[in-house]
Amino acid sequence: MLILSCSDPGRAYGVSSDDVGPDPWRSQGLCLDEDPELFFPDGESSPEALAQVAMAKAVCEACPVLAECREYELAPVELRGKARLRNPDAGVFAAMTAAERRAEVRRRARLAEVQARLQAEAAVEAPSERPSEQPVQSDAAGVAA
Ligand code: SF4
Repeated sequence: MLILSCSDPGRAYGVSSDDVGPDPWRSQGLCLDEDPELFFPDGESSPEALAQVAMAKAVCEACPVLAECREYELAPVELRGKARLRNPDAGVFAAMTAAERRAEVRRRARLAEVQARLQAEAAVEAPSERPSEQPVQSDAAGVAA
C-alpha cells in the first residue's frame, strides 16, 4: 500500500501506510487504492496528460481527506534554508497539478500582503476615528470644554 503526497521529488512517490508519522489522515487517502502512476502524468498539456490529470483529480475530489491533503501540500517546507513547496514540479496532489499548487501559493502570498497592508492602514487611521476615546478636557467646575 502506498501513500502519495509524501516524497522526495524524482524518486518513487510513496511511503508505507505504516509510516504515516504525525499525519494519520494520510492513511485515509483514496490514492492508496490507485496505481501511483495515475498521479504522475507525463506533462500537463497533451490530450493524454490532460485526461490523466482529470482522472487523478476525480480521485482526489472524492477523497475524505482532501482538505487536510491540500493544506499539507501547500504548507511550505524548508530546504537548504529556503521555503518551498513539498512537491513543486510534478504530480497531482489534493486535486491540483504542480502548476496549480504554485499559483495557489502565490495567490495566498499576495492575499496575505494585502491583508497586512490593510491592517497597518487601519491601525494608523484608528485613533482619529474614535474621538470618544480622547481625554475630555474640563474646567474646575467639571464642565467639559
Ligand atoms: S486528496 Fe488526492 S493526493 Fe490527497 S490523500 Fe486524497 S487522493 Fe491522495
